[in-house]
Amino acid sequence: MSRLWNRRVAGLEPYVPGEQPKARDLLKLNTNELPYGPSPRALAALRESCTDTLRLYPDPTSLALRETIGHAYDVTPDRVFVGNGSDEVLAHAFRGLFRDDAPALFADVTYGFYPVYCGLFDQPFETIPLGEDFRIDVRAYDRPCGGIAIANPNANTGIALPVAELAWLARARPDSTLIVDEAYVDFGADSAIRLTRDHDNVLVVQTLSKSRALAGLRVGYAIGHPDLIEGLTRVKDSFNSYPLDRLAQIGAAAAIADSAWLAETTGRVIATREALVRALAQRGFQVLPSCANFILMRHATHSAASLQLRLRERDIIVRRLGMPRIADWLRLTIGTDRDSDRLLAALDDIRVN
Ligand SMILES: *Cc1c(COP(=O)(O)O)cnc(C)c1O
Repeated sequence: MSRLWNRRVAGLEPYVPGEQPKARDLLKLNTNELPYGPSPRALAALRESCTDTLRLYPDPTSLALRETIGHAYDVTPDRVFVGNGSDEVLAHAFRGLFRDDAPALFADVTYGFYPVYCGLFDQPFETIPLGEDFRIDVRAYDRPCGGIAIANPNANTGIALPVAELAWLARARPDSTLIVDEAYVDFGADSAIRLTRDHDNVLVVQTLSKSRALAGLRVGYAIGHPDLIEGLTRVKDSFNSYPLDRLAQIGAAAAIADSAWLAETTGRVIATREALVRALAQRGFQVLPSCANFILMRHATHSAASLQLRLRERDIIVRRLGMPRIADWLRLTIGTDRDSDRLLAALDDIRVN
């Protein structure tokens, strides 16, 4: 606390990201990074762009990158917005595309940043409880609101919603922006990008941090009707004209263009996930059906807190989220097959069965 903080800063409850430990031999299964490196083509493009052109400001409109994204998803560049990580894109969307005369709606168990943006922007919000089975029922969102944010697959549960249900909701609430946060869509879910053609209120947000293995580059993007994109651009240009540096624009474009690398690495993660889920079920874990590169699980007799601690003693970091309903669940990022072996050996050592 400082006497120099204003009321807004004093009242903030910032998002706390997962730990990024310095020790190298830790098995990090806590922040949903990909265990494989980014596209080799992206790395080559990044190396080649380390030249004296870095003295110049980057293209403030990131046009070449937006064209590449547009080409990959079959949309025109005026339907693409890019930002410094999808966190920034989401922040601009909450700021510019939600109305603050009614509560924003999102699930009680979802990405922990949504209520934080609301706190920062004085945006009222209400959380909608997931069902008993941790699924989202879109009918519960069909009410007057300032806007709706749905992560699909949902953050922390990994459960995916059929795109047809999102289409139903977009039609039911035509005057509210529906943000579909697809941070994990490449791990086996269906994208809502096609809805953006017929629904001018749907904004699909994706990131290069998870499936493209570029969390360190900080690039995210949104696809939607040109009017939504123009709204986001107005917010961006009132805050930071150059959210993406030269390297980020070039590296991101090369990564997006390398669809073969994406298919190869996400395919491996999906195969590892399916095998790990079976092995965990044999050890008495309840695992939610995940379409993401993480799983949410709990054990019949071992508490999440004690498991987290005992895995940590064996140099494995997993995440326990602060949300009340999943307090006794652990979130585990899918790594390589070898990472799974190491995890299962640790669980056997702890005598989890
Ligand atoms: C990781 C994540 C993000 C943020 O990704 P960045 O692009 O790294 O900012 C956004 N939404 C969800 C649901 C996430 O899990």
